[in-house]
Amino acid sequence: MKIAILSRNPSLYSTRRLVEAAKEAGHEVRVIDILRCYMNINSDDPGIHYKGENLAGFDAVIPRIGASVTFYGTAVLRQFEMMGVYPLNESVAISRSRDKLRSMQLLSRKKVGMPITGFASKPTDIPDLLDMVGGAPVVLKLLEGTQGIGVVLAETRKAAESVLEAFMGLKANIMVQEFIKEADGADIRCLVIGDKVVAAMKRQGKEGEFRSNLHRGGTASLIRITPKERATAVLAARTMGLNVAGVDLLRSERGPLVMEVNSSPGLEGVEKATGKNVAGSIITFIEKNVNAKVNRARTRGKG
Ligand code: ADP
Ligand code: MG
Repeated sequence: MKIAILSRNPSLYSTRRLVEAAKEAGHEVRVIDILRCYMNINSDDPGIHYKGENLAGFDAVIPRIGASVTFYGTAVLRQFEMMGVYPLNESVAISRSRDKLRSMQLLSRKKVGMPITGFASKPTDIPDLLDMVGGAPVVLKLLEGTQGIGVVLAETRKAAESVLEAFMGLKANIMVQEFIKEADGADIRCLVIGDKVVAAMKRQGKEGEFRSNLHRGGTASLIRITPKERATAVLAARTMGLNVAGVDLLRSERGPLVMEVNSSPGLEGVEKATGKNVAGSIITFIEKNVNAKVNRARTRGKG
C-alpha cells in the first residue's frame, strides 16, 4: 500500500510511530504537511498539489489534523476522499468531533452516558442554566478548547455566573457541565480502533488540579477497564463515525460518562503507559479496511 500521513511535523512521536509501523508492515509511506497542500476542485479530476507536485497513487490517508488547522485540514482530507483514497478517519467525522457541543448532542441521541451539559446564549438565562445542570460546582468549557485550556471549575454559583457572563460578553461559546467530583481529578483514555478498545490508560491530574490532561502536568498509568466502560467507549467512537478515536471517560457513581471523543489521539502517552503497539494496530486496521471503502459516517447520514 501507499499511505499518506497528513501531519504538520514528521518528528512528532505519533507521526514517527505511524511511519515506523507502516514501513515494518512493508508499506510505502509519506508524511505530508497539510498546509502545503493546495487543491484543484473540479468535477472531472479533482486533485491535490503539494509543493508543485501532483499527488497521486495513494491507497490510504491517515489524518493527524491539529485543532488549530481543522478547517483547512479537513478540506484537504475531503479532497483525498474525492480522489478515492481511503481515510482512516473521515473528514466529516473529524469536523463533528471538534465541536464539543455537537459531539455531546450526537452522543445523547445514542443514549451514551455523559455529564449533564447545558448551553445558553444570553446572560439572563444563566440562573436557570445553572439549576438545570444541578448547580455549583460546575465545569465551564469553551467549545473549541483543547489540552485542558478553556476548561474551568467554578466552585460557587457566583463564580460560575461571573465567568459565564464574561465569556458571553466576549461572544465566546461556552458550555456548562455537571462537575463529576468522584472522578477525583482522573479520567480514562480509551484508544478505540474499529470496534475494539486496544489500549486504555488512567490519567491523573497533578496535586490540586481537576484536569487530568497530560499537557497540564497529569500522569498516565495502565488501567483495567470494565466491560461497561469498553462498550461505552466503542459506542461513542461509532456514534461520531470515527474508526480511530481517543475516548475520554469519567468514572462516576452512575457509571462511565463520556467527556470527549478525540479524532487524532496522541500515541505517546498511551503506548508508553500500556506498552501496546497502537501504531501497528492502526496500520493493521487500514490493511483490513482499505478495500472495503465502506463509509460509516456517510452511510449513517445526517449529523
Ligand atoms: P480538553 O478538550 O481541553 O481536554 P476536557 O473536556 O477533556 O477538555 O476537560 C479537561 C479535563 O478536565 C478532563 O480530562 C477531566 O480531567 C476534567 N473534566 C472535564 N470535565 C469534567 C467534569 N464534568 N467533571 C469532572 N472533571 C472534568
Ligand atoms: Mg480532554
